Amino acid sequence: DSLDFAAPSPVATSLEEKFGWGDTIDCVLKKKMRVWCCLPDTKWGLGKIQSVSGGDANVLLSDGKVLTISVENLLPANPDILDGVDDLIQLSYLNEPSVLQNLQYRYSRDLVYTKAGPVLLAVNPFKKVSLYGNDFVSAYRQKLTDSPHVYAIADSAYSEMMRDGVNQSIIISGESGAGKTETAKIAMQYLAALGGGSGIEYEILQTNTILESFGNAKTSRNNNSSRFGKLIEIHFSSAGKICGAKIQTSVLWLGNIDFSVIDNENHVEVVLSEGVVNAANLLGCKVPDLMLALSTHKIQAGNDNIVQKLTLSQATDTRDALAKSIYASLFDWLVEQINKSLQMGKCRTGRSISILDIYGFESFHKNSFEQFCINYANERLQQHFNRHLFKIEQEEYTEDGIDWTNVQFVDNTDCLNLFEKKPLGLLSLLDEESTFPKATDLTFANKLKQHLSGSLCFKGGSGGAFRICHYAGEGQLFKLMQWLGNTTPHFIRCIKPNSKQLPGIYQHDLVLEQLRCCGVLEVVRISRSGYPTRMTHQQFAERYSFLLLENLASQDPLSVSVAVLQQFNVPPEMYQVGYTKLFFRTGQVAALEDARNHT
Ligand code: ATP
Ligand code: MG
Repeated sequence: DSLDFAAPSPVATSLEEKFGWGDTIDCVLKKKMRVWCCLPDTKWGLGKIQSVSGGDANVLLSDGKVLTISVENLLPANPDILDGVDDLIQLSYLNEPSVLQNLQYRYSRDLVYTKAGPVLLAVNPFKKVSLYGNDFVSAYRQKLTDSPHVYAIADSAYSEMMRDGVNQSIIISGESGAGKTETAKIAMQYLAALGGGSGIEYEILQTNTILESFGNAKTSRNNNSSRFGKLIEIHFSSAGKICGAKIQTSVLWLGNIDFSVIDNENHVEVVLSEGVVNAANLLGCKVPDLMLALSTHKIQAGNDNIVQKLTLSQATDTRDALAKSIYASLFDWLVEQINKSLQMGKCRTGRSISILDIYGFESFHKNSFEQFCINYANERLQQHFNRHLFKIEQEEYTEDGIDWTNVQFVDNTDCLNLFEKKPLGLLSLLDEESTFPKATDLTFANKLKQHLSGSLCFKGGSGGAFRICHYAGEGQLFKLMQWLGNTTPHFIRCIKPNSKQLPGIYQHDLVLEQLRCCGVLEVVRISRSGYPTRMTHQQFAERYSFLLLENLASQDPLSVSVAVLQQFNVPPEMYQVGYTKLFFRTGQVAALEDARNHT
């Protein structure tokens, strides 16, 4: 029962601070409960405390050995009754080894879905699992099961859209090969089953096959990797039937552009082809302009601009860089679309569900321009969420007079400024440096160090190395938000359990890296601390008053609401009464909905 992932020494202390282990340690020690031990080989092992003396504990490990270990190297483990809970919110102790073990417990039983508060985690099984199809669709539709599932997410998107007339989005992120595209298809299957009838649902499902056959490629990380990002928008009629769909597809033509060498110095010209014509059309520029831009290089000499021909390798790089930067701006555009759909929601005309298939933050030992673009795009997406949801949520609590110890809100504006500031942001500096004739990676890195070292998000390294502290990356995990309830987005985070693309293998370090990148622990912690579900007194009274045994029809909505809460024994710590709204902890309204559905 040991988890073979590295436990770097600071982890124990930072988790201690973060998750209040400080308060519980006495109790855990006294009651001799189960603990995680940070073993000398930096693995976590499960054990039971036998005795404590001074700062050391004797721990009986599951292999029968007894280990004397400093209390500082222990983390509380959950009681075995909580093994494999289907929402991480239910864990008594929220630390990395506990979360990892919980996911592994479920994964080994083909329970590939787990909730992390409002986020659905989907661990790629890399094999057929019997969790899909008509029987499952009807079970989720009729709420016969509440096991975490993509179907459940699609169902709540659909139900909330129908109930509130607000556009919904299902945002699916994860690294390459984690299962985003498969998950999007599973969500679409569910929605097609619910909203079908006209035949259009088959067309929508079939577009997947078409898009895949054009857009996918085999890469080292995924045999069926999407080389395009995807946004599918499904529109519904007021009766809840699919009435249309729109699919947008994140720049393939550029890759088809070829160059021919025109002199003995290896200089090139673009070959006029379908690829270049289509790319120019899509970019909205003239074909000769694009051909020139891809084969030459403008450099600055004093006050003059000199045009230089590129060599084959330079031209190929330019082409690929262009493709990648278009990819990044496409993400911007995506964010704009989400913005728009949120606004549409406000005017109550919305009856659509968008499914987004996007890369999450990526962090490798050596990161290329591609990771730069992906992470920049995610940073923008993150800002969007922060602004539109987290801040609004907080304002809502404050406005309604709710006593809510503010969850510390980490703004990523600093990090975005690092990229976008003019003239001294990363992107401007990169632009500028690439017009200098003698520029190299090293001169660029030095320039960055010179101008950006003042930013907390920038860390220069030795030689040409530098690091950007992303929102999600090291130490500060992204603190998502209190969206839930009647708001719009639904999140699915796909997790790749191994890099071999094989079933049954669960690599702890790989999973942990992904959990850290998407801030799972933070999300769960925040969800436990806030009141993510809310309704006005009026809405609440209208929806549930018929459940009352006593007739209070003549009373004001607040009194009716309070009577409902009392009749159903909702504990006072599970809700708060605001001036206009009621605020609930996760899961509370579900119980009332259940009562409502069974009456
Ligand atoms: P990329 O970013 O490279 O496009 P992706 O996240 O879209 O990757 P997918 O293509 O969806 O990854 O998944 C990779 C492979 O994993 C699939 O081809 C399939 O074999 C397997 N897979 C993913 N999800 C499931 C699932 N729910 N059940 C069975 N197999 C799955
Ligand atoms: Mg894909």
